[in-house]
Amino acid sequence: MTFTGSGDGQSGSARAHFVLVPMLAQGHTIPMTDMARLLAEHGAQVSFITTPVNASRLAGFAADVEAAGLAVRLVELHFPSAKFGLPDGCENLDMIQSTDLLSNFMDAIAALQEPLKAYLHEQQRSPPSCIISDLIHWWTGDIARELGIPRLTFSGFCGFSSLIRYITYHNNVFQNVKDENELITITGFPTPLELTKAKCPGNFCIPGMEQIRKKFLEEELKSDGEVINSFQELETLYIESFEQTTKKKIWAVGPMCLCHRDNNTMAARGNKASMDEAQCLQWLDSMKPGSVVFVSFGSLACTTPQQLVELGLGLETSRKPFIWVIKAGAKLPEVEEWLADEFEERVKNRGMVIRGWAPQLMILQHQAVGGFMTHCGWNSTIEGICAGVPMITWPHFGEQFLNEKLLVDVLKIGMEVGVKGVTQWGSENQEVMVTRDEVQKAVNTLMDEGAAAEEMRVRAKDCAIKARRAFDEGGSSNDNIRLLIQEMEIKTNACGSVVDTDGNKLSFLV
Ligand code: UDP
Repeated sequence: MTFTGSGDGQSGSARAHFVLVPMLAQGHTIPMTDMARLLAEHGAQVSFITTPVNASRLAGFAADVEAAGLAVRLVELHFPSAKFGLPDGCENLDMIQSTDLLSNFMDAIAALQEPLKAYLHEQQRSPPSCIISDLIHWWTGDIARELGIPRLTFSGFCGFSSLIRYITYHNNVFQNVKDENELITITGFPTPLELTKAKCPGNFCIPGMEQIRKKFLEEELKSDGEVINSFQELETLYIESFEQTTKKKIWAVGPMCLCHRDNNTMAARGNKASMDEAQCLQWLDSMKPGSVVFVSFGSLACTTPQQLVELGLGLETSRKPFIWVIKAGAKLPEVEEWLADEFEERVKNRGMVIRGWAPQLMILQHQAVGGFMTHCGWNSTIEGICAGVPMITWPHFGEQFLNEKLLVDVLKIGMEVGVKGVTQWGSENQEVMVTRDEVQKAVNTLMDEGAAAEEMRVRAKDCAIKARRAFDEGGSSNDNIRLLIQEMEIKTNACGSVVDTDGNKLSFLV
């Protein structure tokens, strides 16, 4: 089986072959599809590891890379749901109905080790040069060592949050902290920083997940570097400090979402949109530039019915145009009657509610959008940065509180809505974290003409310009992508492997 796509089989040396192994969650898979596209556009070959249900969500991506003649192959491995007590077809984190099943899900993912190994051993004509796998996939470290190739990690975090994650875990900063809300000074961070245990990276601190967390963070110490979806000019100090602290090469290659150059590929990103993209664009076209606030909390955050109603009422009283995405899932049916019979009728001239998957990147890039109310997942955050819009920050869990700090305190392009506490992923917290008045106040402050908002808008536009520069030819991220590929090509060819006249490496080197 050989790769198809432009530039396949350069003579003289083997092309670098990257194996991308994303975590089966939208916020981790999506940036890796962008990474695949970028690596291939820069001349590498990519095997993108996925499973059948996730592959069906990626149909748009597969069609796009094929149409563009890029050497990206989607590799579907059977996902052993039944063997690990998961419902049939439960292949993505957003399909897990209860956190009790999280460890089953992680075990099922780790069971992909053998099939992945078998696939990689079959690639005689273009053996892998490098694995880039999600930080969580500790089990890919062994595969890389067996094949004698580097493993780079991808956590989906920015440099700022990665550094905090690294320091707080490896220095046991919160180990003896009893009061979750006590402010703790973080030493070893390049700028003054105080954090509470409650608002620090909570990924897999869910009871029962401690062992897996330990495994992947210990395995990180053996990795050969990390790829981050950020860019040097955005957070130089933190990226450099992350590199010094980990003593590993950090490849900042973002913002990777800028690889999308037209509405079609943006709209197909991650999943099929739950509404007609053309209609959405038409609606946006009818709005004044910079007048619409976009509200979306990513793919995992659980917003309670009470909170949804409160948020909706705040948007209504702000009297600003908005697009509000309500993720499909357990809570939507509980507010559907209120939404359809009352709310949508009252806001029909200036509000659009999207139920389910929205073409977020496409919406954010539209000139009508002037503000983004976000949960501060890093992908959404960097997409907001690329759109050049200031943000209202509403973190829910995990590193989202750290990204909020970066936006509000460091970059000064975000304002807090004023979340009172953490809504842990999968929890049934019934509290209303933000009132309708707080929503209205934040939206009005951000979207009105005030000086503070204007300054944020200017800074946000400046960040977007820097992002574009870093990404384009001659920019720091563009250089990093090229250097990463070059380094893997050199490693591939220097190992003394047998390269045939078409440039295909014929054997693995151990
Ligand atoms: N996203 C989207 N449509 C949606 C919800 C999310 O396109 O309706 C995309 C969003 O653009 C981002 C990703 O899904 O690329 C979510 O990642 P993020 O890190 O922001 O949050 P998470 O879902 O991991 O909490």
